[in-house]
Amino acid sequence: MKLCVFCSASEKIDQKFKDIADETGRIMAKNNIGLVFGGGKLSMMGAVASSVTANGGHATGYIPGHLNESEGGHSDIEDIHIVDTMHTRKMHMAENSDGFLVLPGGFGSMDEFFEIMTWKQLGIHHKPIIIMNAHGYWEPLLKLMDHIIAHNFARPEHKNIFDVIQTPDELMKMLSKHERFKNI
Ligand code: AMP
Repeated sequence: MKLCVFCSASEKIDQKFKDIADETGRIMAKNNIGLVFGGGKLSMMGAVASSVTANGGHATGYIPGHLNESEGGHSDIEDIHIVDTMHTRKMHMAENSDGFLVLPGGFGSMDEFFEIMTWKQLGIHHKPIIIMNAHGYWEPLLKLMDHIIAHNFARPEHKNIFDVIQTPDELMKMLSKHERFKNI
Protein backbone atom coordinates (compact mmCIF):
# COMPACT_ATOMS: atom_id res chain seq x y z
CA MET A 1 0.00 0.00 0.00
CA LYS A 2 1.17 3.53 -0.72
CA LEU A 3 0.38 6.74 1.08
CA CYS A 4 0.83 10.11 -0.59
CA VAL A 5 2.14 12.67 1.90
CA PHE A 6 1.66 16.41 1.45
CA CYS A 7 3.79 18.59 3.75
CA SER A 8 6.02 21.62 4.08
CA ALA A 9 8.96 22.41 1.84
CA SER A 10 9.94 25.40 4.00
CA GLU A 11 13.28 25.22 5.81
CA LYS A 12 12.27 28.00 8.21
CA ILE A 13 9.73 26.04 10.24
CA ASP A 14 10.22 24.87 13.81
CA GLN A 15 12.20 21.64 14.22
CA LYS A 16 9.22 20.06 16.02
CA PHE A 17 7.40 19.82 12.66
CA LYS A 18 10.39 18.18 10.94
CA ASP A 19 10.41 15.68 13.82
CA ILE A 20 6.76 14.88 13.02
CA ALA A 21 7.73 14.17 9.39
CA ASP A 22 10.59 11.97 10.57
CA GLU A 23 8.37 9.98 12.95
CA THR A 24 5.66 9.59 10.30
CA GLY A 25 8.20 8.18 7.84
CA ARG A 26 9.46 5.72 10.45
CA ILE A 27 5.94 4.48 11.22
CA MET A 28 5.11 4.11 7.52
CA ALA A 29 8.26 2.10 6.79
CA LYS A 30 7.79 -0.17 9.83
CA ASN A 31 4.25 -0.93 8.70
CA ASN A 32 5.19 -1.51 5.07
CA ILE A 33 3.43 1.55 3.74
CA GLY A 34 5.25 3.07 0.75
CA LEU A 35 5.61 6.82 0.39
CA VAL A 36 4.52 8.87 -2.60
CA PHE A 37 5.66 12.49 -2.41
CA GLY A 38 6.69 15.63 -4.29
CA GLY A 39 10.27 14.41 -4.78
CA GLY A 40 11.97 17.37 -3.10
CA LYS A 41 14.68 17.27 -0.47
CA LEU A 42 13.60 20.29 1.55
CA SER A 43 12.21 20.45 5.07
CA MET A 44 9.43 18.01 6.02
CA MET A 45 9.25 16.59 2.48
CA GLY A 46 12.89 15.66 2.61
CA ALA A 47 12.60 14.43 6.19
CA VAL A 48 9.68 12.08 5.58
CA ALA A 49 11.37 10.56 2.52
CA SER A 50 14.75 10.17 4.27
CA SER A 51 13.07 8.56 7.24
CA VAL A 52 11.08 6.10 5.10
CA THR A 53 14.21 4.93 3.29
CA ALA A 54 16.41 4.93 6.41
CA ASN A 55 13.89 2.58 8.02
CA GLY A 56 13.83 0.20 5.06
CA GLY A 57 10.74 1.51 3.30
CA HIS A 58 10.14 2.60 -0.28
CA ALA A 59 9.65 6.18 -1.50
CA THR A 60 8.48 7.33 -4.93
CA GLY A 61 8.84 10.99 -5.87
CA TYR A 62 7.39 13.02 -8.73
CA ILE A 63 9.18 16.31 -9.31
CA PRO A 64 8.61 18.81 -12.11
CA GLY A 65 11.70 19.48 -14.28
CA HIS A 66 11.95 23.14 -13.29
CA LEU A 67 12.07 22.30 -9.55
CA ASN A 68 14.53 19.50 -10.17
CA GLU A 69 16.83 21.97 -11.94
CA SER A 70 16.52 24.77 -9.39
CA GLU A 71 16.64 22.65 -6.21
CA GLY A 72 17.55 19.13 -7.21
CA GLY A 73 15.48 16.12 -6.23
CA HIS A 74 16.00 14.06 -3.10
CA SER A 75 19.38 12.38 -3.47
CA ASP A 76 18.57 9.39 -1.18
CA ILE A 77 15.61 8.35 -3.32
CA GLU A 78 16.14 6.20 -6.42
CA ASP A 79 12.54 6.12 -7.53
CA ILE A 80 12.27 9.75 -8.63
CA HIS A 81 10.27 10.65 -11.74
CA ILE A 82 10.87 13.95 -13.50
CA VAL A 83 7.59 15.22 -14.91
CA ASP A 84 6.70 18.22 -17.07
CA THR A 85 4.34 20.30 -14.92
CA MET A 86 2.96 20.68 -11.40
CA HIS A 87 -0.37 19.38 -12.70
CA THR A 88 1.19 16.22 -14.13
CA ARG A 89 2.95 15.71 -10.82
CA LYS A 90 -0.28 15.96 -8.83
CA MET A 91 -1.97 13.55 -11.22
CA HIS A 92 0.80 10.94 -10.79
CA MET A 93 0.83 11.40 -7.02
CA ALA A 94 -2.94 10.91 -6.87
CA GLU A 95 -3.09 7.94 -9.24
CA ASN A 96 -0.19 6.05 -7.69
CA SER A 97 -1.28 6.12 -4.07
CA ASP A 98 -3.95 4.41 -1.98
CA GLY A 99 -4.58 7.31 0.38
CA PHE A 100 -3.43 10.80 1.34
CA LEU A 101 -1.87 12.23 4.45
CA VAL A 102 -1.69 15.97 5.04
CA LEU A 103 1.03 16.97 7.49
CA PRO A 104 1.60 20.61 8.46
CA GLY A 105 2.41 22.64 5.36
CA GLY A 106 1.91 25.90 3.49
CA PHE A 107 0.05 26.92 0.35
CA GLY A 108 1.45 24.04 -1.69
CA SER A 109 0.13 21.48 0.79
CA MET A 110 -3.21 23.28 0.95
CA ASP A 111 -3.49 23.25 -2.83
CA GLU A 112 -2.78 19.53 -2.87
CA PHE A 113 -5.22 18.86 -0.02
CA PHE A 114 -8.11 20.85 -1.48
CA GLU A 115 -7.70 19.31 -4.90
CA ILE A 116 -7.77 15.78 -3.56
CA MET A 117 -10.65 16.65 -1.22
CA THR A 118 -12.81 18.21 -3.94
CA TRP A 119 -12.11 15.26 -6.24
CA LYS A 120 -13.40 12.97 -3.49
CA GLN A 121 -16.42 15.22 -2.93
CA LEU A 122 -17.19 14.78 -6.65
CA GLY A 123 -16.73 10.99 -6.46
CA ILE A 124 -13.63 11.00 -8.70
CA HIS A 125 -11.83 8.85 -6.12
CA HIS A 126 -12.74 7.11 -2.84
CA LYS A 127 -9.36 6.99 -1.11
CA PRO A 128 -8.84 7.97 2.54
CA ILE A 129 -7.64 11.48 3.29
CA ILE A 130 -6.12 12.09 6.72
CA ILE A 131 -5.17 15.47 8.13
CA MET A 132 -2.55 15.33 10.88
CA ASN A 133 -3.24 18.31 13.12
CA ALA A 134 0.23 18.01 14.69
CA HIS A 135 0.86 20.56 17.46
CA GLY A 136 -2.58 21.99 16.60
CA TYR A 137 -1.16 23.43 13.37
CA TRP A 138 -4.28 22.87 11.24
CA GLU A 139 -6.73 24.26 13.84
CA PRO A 140 -7.51 27.41 11.73
CA LEU A 141 -8.10 25.23 8.64
CA LEU A 142 -10.50 22.96 10.55
CA LYS A 143 -12.36 26.04 11.82
CA LEU A 144 -12.54 27.45 8.30
CA MET A 145 -14.09 24.22 7.07
CA ASP A 146 -16.68 24.33 9.91
CA HIS A 147 -17.42 27.94 8.92
CA ILE A 148 -17.92 26.94 5.28
CA ILE A 149 -20.35 24.20 6.33
CA ALA A 150 -22.16 26.42 8.89
CA HIS A 151 -22.91 28.85 6.05
CA ASN A 152 -24.07 26.06 3.73
CA PHE A 153 -21.26 26.55 1.22
CA ALA A 154 -20.59 22.84 1.70
CA ARG A 155 -22.77 20.07 3.10
CA PRO A 156 -22.24 18.71 6.65
CA GLU A 157 -21.55 15.24 5.25
CA HIS A 158 -18.55 16.65 3.42
CA LYS A 159 -16.77 16.64 6.78
CA ASN A 160 -16.74 12.85 6.45
CA ILE A 161 -14.52 13.15 3.38
CA PHE A 162 -11.46 13.37 5.59
CA ASP A 163 -10.29 12.19 9.02
CA VAL A 164 -8.31 14.16 11.55
CA ILE A 165 -5.58 12.76 13.76
CA GLN A 166 -3.25 14.61 16.11
CA THR A 167 -0.02 12.57 16.15
CA PRO A 168 1.90 10.03 14.01
CA ASP A 169 0.99 7.33 16.59
CA GLU A 170 -2.64 7.50 15.47
CA LEU A 171 -1.88 6.97 11.79
CA MET A 172 -2.06 3.19 11.49
CA LYS A 173 -5.25 2.87 13.55
CA MET A 174 -6.98 5.51 11.44
CA LEU A 175 -5.81 3.97 8.16
CA SER A 176 -6.99 0.51 9.21
CA LYS A 177 -10.56 1.82 9.58
CA HIS A 178 -10.67 2.20 5.82
CA GLU A 179 -11.65 -0.79 3.67
CA ARG A 180 -8.68 -0.21 1.35
CA PHE A 181 -6.19 -0.48 4.23
CA LYS A 182 -7.98 -3.05 6.37
CA ASN A 183 -5.27 -5.71 5.98
CA ILE A 184 -2.30 -3.53 6.93
P1 AMP B 1 4.30 24.03 0.93
O1 AMP B 1 3.25 23.34 1.76
O2 AMP B 1 3.83 25.35 0.38
O3 AMP B 1 5.63 24.11 1.61
O4 AMP B 1 4.48 23.12 -0.35
C1 AMP B 1 4.87 21.79 -0.20
C2 AMP B 1 3.99 20.89 -1.02
O5 AMP B 1 3.90 21.37 -2.35
C3 AMP B 1 4.59 19.50 -1.08
O6 AMP B 1 3.66 18.51 -0.66
C4 AMP B 1 5.04 19.33 -2.54
O7 AMP B 1 4.36 18.30 -3.19
C5 AMP B 1 4.77 20.68 -3.20
N1 AMP B 1 5.99 21.52 -3.29
C6 AMP B 1 6.02 22.84 -3.02
N2 AMP B 1 7.27 23.33 -3.13
C7 AMP B 1 8.05 22.32 -3.48
C8 AMP B 1 9.45 22.20 -3.74
N3 AMP B 1 10.24 23.25 -3.66
N4 AMP B 1 9.94 21.00 -4.07
C9 AMP B 1 9.12 19.96 -4.17
N5 AMP B 1 7.79 20.01 -3.93
C10 AMP B 1 7.26 21.17 -3.59
